[in-house]
Amino acid sequence: MALTIDLTGDRPRAPAIAPSADKPSLVGLTREELGAALADAGVPERQVKMRVQQLWHWLYVRGVSDFAEMRNISKELRALLSERFTVARPEIVEEQVSNDGTRKWLFRFPPRGAGRPVEIETVYIPEEGRGTLCISSQVGCTLTCSFCHTGTQKLVRNLTSEEILAQLLTARDRLGDFPDRDTPDGAIVPAEGRKVSNIVMMGMGEPLYNFEEVKKALLIASDGDGLSLSKRRITLSTSGIVPEIYRTGEEIGVMLAISLHAVRDDLRDMLVPINKKYPLKELLDACRAYPGLSNARRITFEYVMLRDVNDSIEDAKELVRLLRGIPAKINLIPFNPWPGTNYQCSEWETIEKFADYINAAGYASPIRTPRGRDILAACGQLKSQSERLRKTERLALEAMMIAGHGEA
Ligand code: SAH
Ligand code: SF4
Repeated sequence: MALTIDLTGDRPRAPAIAPSADKPSLVGLTREELGAALADAGVPERQVKMRVQQLWHWLYVRGVSDFAEMRNISKELRALLSERFTVARPEIVEEQVSNDGTRKWLFRFPPRGAGRPVEIETVYIPEEGRGTLCISSQVGCTLTCSFCHTGTQKLVRNLTSEEILAQLLTARDRLGDFPDRDTPDGAIVPAEGRKVSNIVMMGMGEPLYNFEEVKKALLIASDGDGLSLSKRRITLSTSGIVPEIYRTGEEIGVMLAISLHAVRDDLRDMLVPINKKYPLKELLDACRAYPGLSNARRITFEYVMLRDVNDSIEDAKELVRLLRGIPAKINLIPFNPWPGTNYQCSEWETIEKFADYINAAGYASPIRTPRGRDILAACGQLKSQSERLRKTERLALEAMMIAGHGEA
């Protein structure tokens, strides 16, 4: 694993693609919705099913973003579709590429209704044998976790399923992760394998407070006739919205990560205030009931290491006790400080002791070799601002994204 990152090199300005403010997008619709949209546009009823299949293939297997490229669709129909709809990508305001392959994009999405355009960041981290994309579900967040920078920003709006998927599609475009436009039909992934092999819903926002759109996007991302990402390689991180955790298990079926961060209700009430509504017992009951858990399919518990707040050995003991019986991974995240926060990251030694205790109890500890005291996390820190991905941010992203490594 490369320890150095050099972002001083190339920072290409990606070509801006016209945003799709005026026409509805066909990206992010369920098959039924897509069929209805086509019928509405005048596609004859008996053709709808076939057209849906064709569009699905072009959009999600081939990754095209222009009707003109849909070769097996007649010119007339393409003209009709492009008059009514769009399949264009969002505008890429900025793209940063590190020498080791880490990428960060700033995307701009057009206004919805009377709102203003919004900007969000998406990050890609390549590693040995896998590549993880960190995706946002909302601009801002309604929740106010006291250690989280996003928690200080108001919710601007939910992202639509189109915008959630656009992060994946555009990242794959830029990484050359779709089959070459000229490859014969049938070759659906680049020869060297997928660049985006895993996705984590760990960017901005609480995905379970945008349930319907997140569900649609993740079901499309995992659809076997399209993007085909295994549900075991998709991880949804939540602060613990209990009713929607049950629904996630029943209706989406992706891997779950829980932002636990505290093992006592009084402390969790302060760190993750949604705990007052859904306290630890209810949260852990929902985790126990999550369908399909096994040693190979475990829930990730994220635990941010805050100095003198939640980092004692007593906390570690209680953590192990609480999780007993739940197939679990524990992801210790060094706190990533931000301007104005009162919290500090735990001492490295403390983190190691905590990790050792957890290891001894049988949990593989994801803390990697120390890289200095300021190894800091960054997911949950992505913001609408063009700034360079600092080395510390990048190291921290790696620590965070361990949660997204359901399967190698
Ligand atoms: N809202 C969801 C997902 C986004 S946050 C959730 O809370 O789970 C992704 C992860 O980053 C969460 O575990 C969150 O608690 C953590 N996080 C937020 N701010 C952080 C910070 N300053 N340092 C380290 N981790 C942080
Ligand atoms: Fe929202 Fe997650 Fe941050 Fe809490 S940790 S404020 S739920 S983004």
